[in-house]
Amino acid sequence: MENKFKIYNTLTKQVETIKPNEDGKIAMYTCGPTVYHFAHIGNLRSYIMEDVLEKSLRFVGYDVKRVMNITDVGHLSSDADTGEDKMLKGAKREHKTVMEVAKFYTDAFFADCAKLNIKTPDVVEPATNCIDEFINMITVLLEKGYAYQAGGNVYFDTSKLNDYYVFSSQSEKELLVGVRDDVEEDTNKRNKNDFVLWFTKSKFEDQALKWDSPWGVGYPGWHIECSCISMKHLGEYMDIHCGGVDNIFPHHTNEIAQSESYLGHKWCNYWFHVHHLNDKSGKMSKSKGDFLTVSLLEEKGYNPLVYRMFCLQSHYRKPLEFSYEVLDQMVKTYDKLARKTRSLKNDGEVDKQVYDAFRLKFEDALCNDVNTSMAITVLYDLLKADTNDATKRKLVEDFDQVLSLGLLSAADEKASEQETNGADNELTAYVEEMIAKRAQAKKEKDFAKADAIRNELLEKGIAIKDTREGVVWERV
Ligand SMILES: [Zn+2]
Repeated sequence: MENKFKIYNTLTKQVETIKPNEDGKIAMYTCGPTVYHFAHIGNLRSYIMEDVLEKSLRFVGYDVKRVMNITDVGHLSSDADTGEDKMLKGAKREHKTVMEVAKFYTDAFFADCAKLNIKTPDVVEPATNCIDEFINMITVLLEKGYAYQAGGNVYFDTSKLNDYYVFSSQSEKELLVGVRDDVEEDTNKRNKNDFVLWFTKSKFEDQALKWDSPWGVGYPGWHIECSCISMKHLGEYMDIHCGGVDNIFPHHTNEIAQSESYLGHKWCNYWFHVHHLNDKSGKMSKSKGDFLTVSLLEEKGYNPLVYRMFCLQSHYRKPLEFSYEVLDQMVKTYDKLARKTRSLKNDGEVDKQVYDAFRLKFEDALCNDVNTSMAITVLYDLLKADTNDATKRKLVEDFDQVLSLGLLSAADEKASEQETNGADNELTAYVEEMIAKRAQAKKEKDFAKADAIRNELLEKGIAIKDTREGVVWERV
């Protein structure tokens, strides 16, 4: 297929047309959450924009396979292997085991994602599932001379690479300026930015999760998991690796170092990084004010999809400033947009020419480095355009496959509510019985029967539609 999708590639520091390793297919990887706490809406900004990237690629015709890890071991509170173990900290705080904490916050993460209409990646793999893969990669790195053992731990030797600092576009000296004086230095490291591949000498005597390894009982470092989990599911060549900008150094820099040393060739071609969500004081942090979660927004009466729209109105490569004032403004914008789509009638024929033209405009916005605010402008232009409702409705439905703002499901719910209120009870009972029969047929994988029921209803002037919230129906 024709490649026309452009993104900014952190590796080359320019906007580039994506040329996948395999024609028409995209192998994509996302760094998943460390499941020791609820996700902050700032982290979720990254997941929203990565979701839009994935859906945009699908929209223009790519067959995307996306993999995400769940960090349930090995991530210390500083990304540079210092500080407390995040999972252990969570377990202590909540008087639970590490695995209980991991389960609870993994579920909470996906519940938040569902509320934000973020699709679950095709493969989700917890780090604790892949200990053998980690051990295998570390063994090879030691054999090839890229790693060394010191003080009971295994470290990656960054001095073995000429271009270790290229990705972060910072020099070793600049990076060292950022290292805090109060962080205890690990004297086992030969070079300041060497990182742990395997810990056996944990400074946490009560480290909960440990495994046997050729280097003693211990646990993996954080960076190794993404290299191994991506290769396990996507092979030796990857097209797009995603994350937040704070992952560029050290996490992604270290992923590249160990993956390419292990493979002996280039690993991932395009790196996609989403910028921070800030508040007025600068970077958002847990210590300042509210710890902003999806649940907190809901408690305050906000629809999570309003937050999604807020993120889409801005470009992923720009810092985004959060405040309740701007969110309140976004509520009005979202409601107005939803009202407009809600009022679209399902009448007439789709005008093919208008349909194709708008679809192309929308695709162009997405292909232009995921320009979501431009894509939303195309949606507004469509709603103002001189064409019939059926055409507009079909396009809104298509656009929402990427935007995922729930615009038409809101419309359908409303329509079916109104229709149901007006319909006589007998009809409602009949339709509901048929919907139940169809659900049963689908459950039994009798899709022919399910389709027959749908058609039978259609003949009686009842259209049914599957939405995330369930089956809705309306008279047509
Ligand atoms: Zn990662």
